[in-house]
Amino acid sequence: MIFLDKALLIFALLFVACSPKIQQVHQDEPVSSLDEVPKEVLKRPQEPQTQESVYAIEFTTPTGQFIKMSFRSPAKSVGKVNDGHILNGKCLRPLGPGYKLREPELGCATDEVINLMMFSIGEVLRAFPDSPALVLGTLSKKDGGPVPPNKSHQSGRDVDIGFYARNSRPLDDFDELDTDEIDFTKTFYLMANLIATGRVQLIMVNYALHPHLYNAAKDMGYSDEQLAWLFQYPMGPKAKAGIIRHAKGHRRHFHVRFNCPIGDDLCVP
Ligand SMILES: [Zn+2]
Repeated sequence: MIFLDKALLIFALLFVACSPKIQQVHQDEPVSSLDEVPKEVLKRPQEPQTQESVYAIEFTTPTGQFIKMSFRSPAKSVGKVNDGHILNGKCLRPLGPGYKLREPELGCATDEVINLMMFSIGEVLRAFPDSPALVLGTLSKKDGGPVPPNKSHQSGRDVDIGFYARNSRPLDDFDELDTDEIDFTKTFYLMANLIATGRVQLIMVNYALHPHLYNAAKDMGYSDEQLAWLFQYPMGPKAKAGIIRHAKGHRRHFHVRFNCPIGDDLCVP
């Protein structure tokens, strides 16, 4: 009997000692209402981090559209336009929407240049759907470097572009056109779209053509203030003014020099 009493006492003590613990366990049981689910367990899985550099360009087109373009692992423009090369250069196909390349092996540049060129040509097609293919001349080689007889065009920031001819006449080359054969409206509209990207450093074209481009811009409604920062004309071919500047020759095409790509610390402006 004594043995049984002792056993009962131990059991009772154990029960008392254990009961709070049992209660504690009871409080930790899973909750039944969805509102009470702890929110910290519902984290969205993170994408793996990569070493790719990503950046974006934002601008507003001449027609007022806001555009944002993102670039992943873009090309690097290394050095100067007349002493440089390209890393990871991007190349145009010989024939594409709204353009044709004169020299397919010289159709490479940085991502910014390729994308902004294609975008701007697309804007011309949108405004003037009957436009024939624009003739694109020298850009750069895929890896850049010298492109004789040019001094520049080495680092993927230079593009030679033909004019649009009047009456939507298609051209196959940088043809010699009289001023009354050039469609200055379409040609200036292309320039305006390129400049609106904020990534164009200079456009070089013979000063003899400036008054025609200037008048086309004026007819489109550009203000005197806008014309003054767009054009070197009428300040004279040596004036350091305007984005559209005189360059010797450049009567059968114009030359666009783009800025260094954003964040490209190997590029020399
Ligand atoms: Zn050129």
